[in-house]
Amino acid sequence: SSGVSSSHPALFPDLVAGVDRPALRFGDLALTYAELAAAAGALAAGLDRSGRVAVWATPTAETAVGVLAALLAGVPAVPLNPKTGGSELSHVIADSAPLAVFAAPDDELPDALGSLRRIDVRAEAPAVPGPPLPDEPAPDSPAFVVYTSGTTGPPKGAVLPRRALASTLDALADAWQWTADDVLVHGLPLFHVHGLILGVLGPLRRGGAVRHLGRFSTEGVTRELASGATMLFGVPTMYHRIAQALPGDRPLAKALSGARLLVSGSAALPVHDHDRITAATGCRVIERYGMTETLMNTSVRADAEPRAGTVGVPLAGVELRLVDEAGAPTTDPAEVGEIQVRGPNLFTEYLNRPDATAAAFTADGFFRTGDMAVRDPDGYVRIVGRKATDLIKSGGYKIGAGEIENALLDHPGVREAAVTGEPDADLGERIVAWIVPDDPARPPAATALVDHVAAQLAPHKRPRVVRYLAELPRNDMGKIMKRSLHE
Ligand code: ATP
Ligand code: MG
Repeated sequence: SSGVSSSHPALFPDLVAGVDRPALRFGDLALTYAELAAAAGALAAGLDRSGRVAVWATPTAETAVGVLAALLAGVPAVPLNPKTGGSELSHVIADSAPLAVFAAPDDELPDALGSLRRIDVRAEAPAVPGPPLPDEPAPDSPAFVVYTSGTTGPPKGAVLPRRALASTLDALADAWQWTADDVLVHGLPLFHVHGLILGVLGPLRRGGAVRHLGRFSTEGVTRELASGATMLFGVPTMYHRIAQALPGDRPLAKALSGARLLVSGSAALPVHDHDRITAATGCRVIERYGMTETLMNTSVRADAEPRAGTVGVPLAGVELRLVDEAGAPTTDPAEVGEIQVRGPNLFTEYLNRPDATAAAFTADGFFRTGDMAVRDPDGYVRIVGRKATDLIKSGGYKIGAGEIENALLDHPGVREAAVTGEPDADLGERIVAWIVPDDPARPPAATALVDHVAAQLAPHKRPRVVRYLAELPRNDMGKIMKRSLHE
């Protein structure tokens, strides 16, 4: 018996059945579906169901057990970033008002959590199965409150219904042809949609397994792919490290060439890195595009052709449109428009933010993503960037930062590049290139960089200013924090 004493969550049939196959592995700790079900079931049985539960989301099996326990009990889970400082954490706690916090027995919790009841999670099967659990909650009941990454402003708590979880996991499992034979290599943090919902819950949907690296390393990727893992999830900074390591690292190249799928998300994957990895390994590298509020919007099917620089096509059930500044859907696929999405994958609201929630939706129920894109003639979506930080209005043109960043990254002397606009008396905004040189002692000349861009793109897309930095400001998902570049 599974020890779950319940037929839900229906999303994870192998968990409910308690099958004796690997489910999760974190370091030396491995759990089968049966063990995971027993541990989560016991924890769920004792949980107060009258409010939310926070999860101290370290990259450990305890986080996964805690999250599954909350799903079983029908209690909304609030993943907490264990790296956030006091004031942001205090804000999240005050905003989400959890009744308790799940933590591993040896976690040290910061003062900001002092007032919360602590529940120690043990990632081991209990001796006695717990009492029966409630029936599967309704599809519109909240499964999670996940805070956005805070790239464009203070994080907001997105309330994610069970329906959104089900639709995204199904759409991805279908698109990526996930099976019980798949084993995912995972090196991402567990407090965002990408690492937690896709990376941990995703493979469990179809009976697959997850091996978490604890901390990403190319050695870890090599080891796991060489010993039976089939897929890798990462953010662009990880793929950049892989692309840089590949020329000299034969074992890594060999391991990657045996992988079924390499998936990148959370930020744009530079075309240059995509092409270098594909050329060196022959493996498919695909992007997916999503966000806290919508879970997954687009990706490339496992049986379709990947296309660098695109995030693929809308997933099953997701309606996606591009809308011009007047709010009308664009008719020319080459015209830049805001991405708006509607479907079962959407969040219900920002917690305690009725104003922000109202502003986020159109009258006909589409979510305004704030991301700008064009489409290829066959519908593949190309993200140009965020409306707030990546769309530069210069000399009467609307210019996307991403295209210029890709052109700069293609220069051999450039390690990292970010492009922004800043006020300019003549042009409205002028294009600024922020460059991390490959060799800090010999940065490429500004004129050489401008010429390099001019050779690839239209003249109005040339940077007017080039600034050199030792590193770009990034958050824990590797996203470039453009608002702090100008500070
Ligand atoms: P905040 O909303 O608090 O400013 P955030 O938008 O970074 O932070 P997330 O929900 O974690 O928070 O990130 C979603 C955003 O990440 C998307 O809106 C998009 O801008 C970006 N993104 C995700 N995947 C991709 C991708 N494949 N290519 C380009 N951008 C992506
Ligand atoms: Mg956002």
